[in-house]
Amino acid sequence: MLKKALFTLSLLASFGTAMATDLPDVVILATGGTIAGTAASSTQMTGYKSGNLGVQTLIDAVPAIKEIADVSGEQIVNVGSPNLTEENLLKIAKRCNELLADSKVKGIVITHGTDTLEETAYFLNLTIKSDKPVVIVGSMRPATAISADGPVNLLNAVKVAASDEAVGKGVLVAMNDEINGARDVTKTNTTLVSTFKAPELGTLGYIAAGQPQFFKESTRRHTSKSEFDISKVNSLPRVDIVYSYLCDDRVATDAFVKAGAKGIVHAGSGNGSISNKTYEGLLDAVSKGVVIVRSSRVGNGVVTKSLPEWTEKGLIESGTLNPQKSRILLQLALTRTSDPKEIQRIFREY
Ligand code: ASP
Repeated sequence: MLKKALFTLSLLASFGTAMATDLPDVVILATGGTIAGTAASSTQMTGYKSGNLGVQTLIDAVPAIKEIADVSGEQIVNVGSPNLTEENLLKIAKRCNELLADSKVKGIVITHGTDTLEETAYFLNLTIKSDKPVVIVGSMRPATAISADGPVNLLNAVKVAASDEAVGKGVLVAMNDEINGARDVTKTNTTLVSTFKAPELGTLGYIAAGQPQFFKESTRRHTSKSEFDISKVNSLPRVDIVYSYLCDDRVATDAFVKAGAKGIVHAGSGNGSISNKTYEGLLDAVSKGVVIVRSSRVGNGVVTKSLPEWTEKGLIESGTLNPQKSRILLQLALTRTSDPKEIQRIFREY
């Protein structure tokens, strides 16, 4: 009798194991944000506490995840994304590389605050050494909200991370049923759940009828084709952003140089235009070895070569990268070189 019971138990156990191993392994790395945020009432959509729930609570809130993948969670940090540090960024990238080197891991989901999500996504797009899916997800409404968007976004992110179609597409952002590429996606609205868009270069795909569907991909270098290796990098060079406006001057530039900036991204007006007063400050910065990238505050379009003198002085064009993403690429470029020609090449390729 006892023998029979033990036999049945072991059969059940092996069946359970077989079922578990049939599903792809997806690791969820949690960093905080609104998706882990809580408010005092279900109608409170602002002024709540970001990064309050742990990763297991997020996973347990979506039982349907267990039908898609064998998920395990790791808490990297639990903060609102404006408070993430470069140390956190490096830790996330290194942990992703470790996990993805394990043949059992199919993909990774990273839960993240939405405010700086696009910057982390682009950093990982440049530093992850794998073609396996890495999907970043957040929410615009806290976990306690009526119609919270976090649970469905997390379920969809796991579906994308577990899918073969997402392999080789670079780091992805899956929110509000859209799949966007890390390079081109940006937060476009302060409060709407439809905030993440790639305004001109476009959405890569959708999660429709519960399935990830892709329609295009970026032509720029990323992940396994990227030249950036952060395995031995423990800190990133200081790069600041100087925002242009009517009647601006060199005060911000001088202050950043004094603070030790190795690079400055100028968020110029129009096609990366620079006022004469700010230009004087930028030229002084160049003479001290600071690398300058011309980006634009416009939010769309290509920043091209403009005045020949700007190119002669070594100012670099950002192409379509917005100022905050130009900053990430410049930081990584500066881990390899400070030669403006080489950095211009990097801005053309990534
Ligand atoms: N302030 C929050 C954060 O970025 C916003 C969000 O997650 O949606 O952490």
